[in-house]
Order: sequence, then C-alpha cells, then structure tokens
Amino acid sequence: MSGAFSGGTVPSPLLLLPRWLVPVRPRGALENHALLVVGDRIAAIGPREELLARHPEVEAIRLDTHVLLPGFVNSHAHAAMSLLRGLADDLPLMTWLERHIWPAESRFVYPDFVRMGTRLAIAEMLAGGTTCFNDMYFFPSETALVAMEMGMRASVGHVVIDFPNTYTKNAEDALQKAQEHLTGLRGFPLVKQGIAPHAPYTVSDWALQEAAALARQEDLFLHMHVHETSQEIASALERDGRRPLHRLAGLGVLDSRFLAVHMTHLDASDLALCAETGIRVAHCPESNLKLGSGISPVSALLRQGQKIGIGTDGAASNNDLDMLGELRTAALLAKGREQDPTVLPAMDVLEMATLGGAVACGWEEETGSLETGKAADCIAINLDRAATSPVYDPVSQVVYCAGRDQVSHVWVAGRLRISGGLAVDWEEREMVVLAREWARRIAEKDGAR
Ligand SMILES: [Zn+2]
Repeated sequence: MSGAFSGGTVPSPLLLLPRWLVPVRPRGALENHALLVVGDRIAAIGPREELLARHPEVEAIRLDTHVLLPGFVNSHAHAAMSLLRGLADDLPLMTWLERHIWPAESRFVYPDFVRMGTRLAIAEMLAGGTTCFNDMYFFPSETALVAMEMGMRASVGHVVIDFPNTYTKNAEDALQKAQEHLTGLRGFPLVKQGIAPHAPYTVSDWALQEAAALARQEDLFLHMHVHETSQEIASALERDGRRPLHRLAGLGVLDSRFLAVHMTHLDASDLALCAETGIRVAHCPESNLKLGSGISPVSALLRQGQKIGIGTDGAASNNDLDMLGELRTAALLAKGREQDPTVLPAMDVLEMATLGGAVACGWEEETGSLETGKAADCIAINLDRAATSPVYDPVSQVVYCAGRDQVSHVWVAGRLRISGGLAVDWEEREMVVLAREWARRIAEKDGAR
C-alpha cells in the first residue's frame, strides 16, 4: 500500500506561514499567524513571530501570497462514476439513469472499474482542495483501499438497494455484504464507514429499517438520496399517499445520524420534520441544476438550525468534482432564490463546505476546521493572480473568484498530497490515458440493448 500514512513514513514537523489563515472555527481571517504541523496533527496555531521563535528547528514553508484553509469536505460523491463523466448529458434524471447509467453500470462496474474511477476522482478532488469525501457506490471496500493508497480521507457508504446489480443481488445480500466488510475496513485511519440506502424509490420499508438498525448497532451514519426530484415525490404520493420524507419518519429512521442528500422540493411539513428530527443535509446545487431537479431551500434549512454540507454528487451528473465551484454556485443560487443578496454570505458558505460537511458526515472531531489537536487537513490557495486581485477580504476572494488552479498545496493528515499545484505521488498523465481506454470500451456499448 504505497503512500499510505500508516506505512511508516511520518512527515517531519512543518511550520506553515500563510499571508492569511482562515480557521473557519473561529470565523474570520487571521493575519501574521502560523500553523504548526507535527505528525498528522495541528500542534499549534499562533502569532507567526512567536511560533518561529519557539520552533527554530522546524522547516518553515512561506506562503506569502496564500490563504490557508481547512480542506473542503465533499459531503456527497460517487467517486468511481468519474469514468462515466460526460457519457450522457442534458437528460432528465430517470432517462439518464435508465437508458445510460444503469446499463453501463451493469456491464462495467466491477472492482477494477471502481478502483480506476476512484483514483481519477481522488486525483481531481485533491488537486482542487478537497481533503475528505463522503461516498456512496458499489464495491465500497475498493473505494476505501484507493483512498488509503492515495492518502485521502473518506467516508464510504455500504450501498443498500433492492435491485440486482454487479455487487449485490438484493437488499438482503447488500446488508449482509455491508456487515462482512465493516470489520475489514475498521482499522483504516483515514476511512469511516456508513450505510447508504440508495433512495426512497429503490429501497423497501423492511430494508430501510434493517439498514437503520445496522447503523445504530455499529454507530454509523445513514447516507441516502431524498427528495431529489418532484417526480420522486409525485410517484410516492401516488403509491402510498405520503411524501418520501414522511414515509422515512414513519419508519423511524430520521435522526441526527441521517444524512439526506439533495432535499429539493420541501414543503412546510417537510421542513418541520427536518427541524424536529435534526437530520443532516448534503446540498448538491450543481447536480440538481444540471439534471433540472430543482433547488434546495438551503437558507430556510439554515434558519431552522439544520446542519448542512455541500457535495458535488458524481462526475456523471455535475460534471466536475470542483468544491470551489460548488460553494460559489450554492451562494449565488441561495441569493437568487430568495432575491436577497444578504443570504448565505461568503463565510457561511465556506463553513458549509468545510466544517458543515465534516459535521454532516461524522468527521467533525478530525477535520473541517483548523484547530489545535485536529488532523492537519489544510489547503493553500494562492491569491496572487489577476483573477483574485486586489484582496480586500480573502474569504470573499476564495468564494467568489478563486479557481481550483490556484490551489497550490494540499495536506491530508499532515502529508503533502499536492505541491505547486501538482500531485506528489502519482502521474496525472497515466490516469488520463487509462481513463481514455475505459471510455472507449464504455462508449462502444452505450445505448446498446
Ligand atoms: Zn448522488
């Protein structure tokens, strides 16, 4: 397992000297501050001169024109789907799924596909400043292994779905596989696990309750697509007279360990249920826009105290895994929806994309903010470019102007993953060539019966 942090090479202590330091908790930007990394942890944050004097022996990294932030937490992804990026665009959700994605998955999704797709996704995410992702896909153990190999923090969801696929025969088989794999992945320091019932329309009452029972027993999060489209709600109402969220509440599966993804089309009764149960929300604005699904009422959810993270969803429906782009879309969309520019200010949306995501996925103790004792998951963005000049407020520049090509350094658990914008441990070129070869095979069969 080359590159795994557990492999023995503990990085030397580092003193990071950024122009601005935005810890997220507390909010705001600090100037003339430094951050000390020892092993995989943030050992201290303090005035630059003080830390320099106290640690003269430690290697100092000058980031004179950079802002230092916690890495982004992508709270909803299907990493391996990066290999299906651009396979079928500009289609409604069900057409996209039934005619293109599900047939391609039934032919190609085996461990080698999941490993390759996940490698591609992690390379893209790390280069764009994402240091943790919450995944839902088949063969989750493969996802976890690749995350470990590449030194990326991840939550992997054990998918539960009624329909047969290349990984599981039915929900019962899926629950059994989840149980089998849970133990094997427990020792991975950068990996957490979750149970991921796919969606209300693909998982029966029985399987949902079993998934929730397993999650409770193992102290895990549930991670599920909920209220993605108006069609999902309309067909649920037709089927059993209840909106999907109300059916989930009736089954007793909603609580603060339930992460609901998408959450567009919420009426007053849905919002009340969210407040009452304290469920977490993963907001995926670009996927919702691209699939024409709708817009989640994020500001209403925030007003009632809901914990919200931001996710890209899979690259097949976004089509990038660019958290900087995603948080900008989230901010602009909320303002437009409410016709109020004061809604979701820059600091709030940055918090959603970092600490909010960590809270939503159960990683709050480890990541999501730069605080002494937490894992050193840090990113540096170089603002010394025309597109981000001048800088009155570094947080505003990050949210409204910075592009992911400005992410210069990325550390996960103290290990440098990206330096000068380039991957430390792998060749991007090699991945591009392999992805092209996969795409050739997949495209050949696309649309075929
Ligand atoms: Zn999704």
